[in-house]
Amino acid sequence: AKNQGRGTYATYRKEMRGRLEDRAQLETDLQFALQRDEITVFYQPMFDAASSQILCYEALMRWTHPDRGSVSPSDFIPIAEENLLIDELGEWLLKEACAEAVKWPQTVKLAVNVSKLQLMNHRFFATVVEALSASGLAPHRLVLELTEAIVFELEDELQQLIQNLSDIGVSFALDDFGSGYSSLNYIDKMRFSMIKIDPEFVRSSAAGSLNSQAVVTAVVSMANSLDMVVAAEGIEAGDQADAMRALGCTCFQGYHFAKPSASVSPMPANTTSDRQ
Ligand code: C2E
Ligand code: CA
Ligand code: CA
Ligand code: CA
Repeated sequence: AKNQGRGTYATYRKEMRGRLEDRAQLETDLQFALQRDEITVFYQPMFDAASSQILCYEALMRWTHPDRGSVSPSDFIPIAEENLLIDELGEWLLKEACAEAVKWPQTVKLAVNVSKLQLMNHRFFATVVEALSASGLAPHRLVLELTEAIVFELEDELQQLIQNLSDIGVSFALDDFGSGYSSLNYIDKMRFSMIKIDPEFVRSSAAGSLNSQAVVTAVVSMANSLDMVVAAEGIEAGDQADAMRALGCTCFQGYHFAKPSASVSPMPANTTSDRQ
């Protein structure tokens, strides 16, 4: 048993070293990913529950690594954040996605995920303004998604930045609601236009958890009085959509409706876009 223990430990050390080398390599590769055109944007629609119209597309970053294939943003965004590459990647995505969104009907918004480090960069406000003016996208069509974790302890400086962006017409969505920081306290501190209920919460509510359902009901009631939309994300089955609809969610996103895709489905020809 002793030998086996030592063996296991040695294997563990070796595995750890392998993983660290792996990560270091990934870090290096990520630095060149943009210039090598390995980074792309996928778009996933969000639907109005009543009309089935597309309200918005969420931009999701994709990295196609030459050897590893597709690397998940959940894996490379944290690496990008440690290396301050997130600013470069985030700025690129914002410009790329705004330039794409300007071709869509004016009623369709663009949602972009923003990490805390991006917000903390003093150039962030200027970057957003630049992306909007370069593309010609109207500011009211841009929604920035901030996770609960960011908003949970919002410093005054960030609060001010969010205020400044709101003042020019950009709106905000609270992402991953219910993923761990569930508190209604901070929601009225910020003027979100949308609250996105985390997939885990959607699952538990749909599976009949009275606890989860009570939280969703409370959020919906608060959101309604504050003029916010409540979206359910990660919907994979019709019964989940039904359950969330019954609880008052008015916006749906998930594989059941549409997966993220490299191109946006053809838009009705009779609708006008910002740029003619
Ligand atoms: P998120 O913002 O919560 O995005 C939703 C994630 O759920 C996406 O994963 C999406 O592809 C996936 N998804 C959508 N519908 C379903 C469904 O029905 N079932 C399941 N199982 N998954 C579904 P993705 O694209 O891998 O992104 C993961 C996370 O990476 C995002 O979570 C977001 O936090 C982050 N991320 C993605 N793109 C960016 C970006 O451009 N900037 C920043 N800062 N973060 C990003
Ligand atoms: Ca999101
Ligand atoms: Ca989310
Ligand atoms: Ca998430």
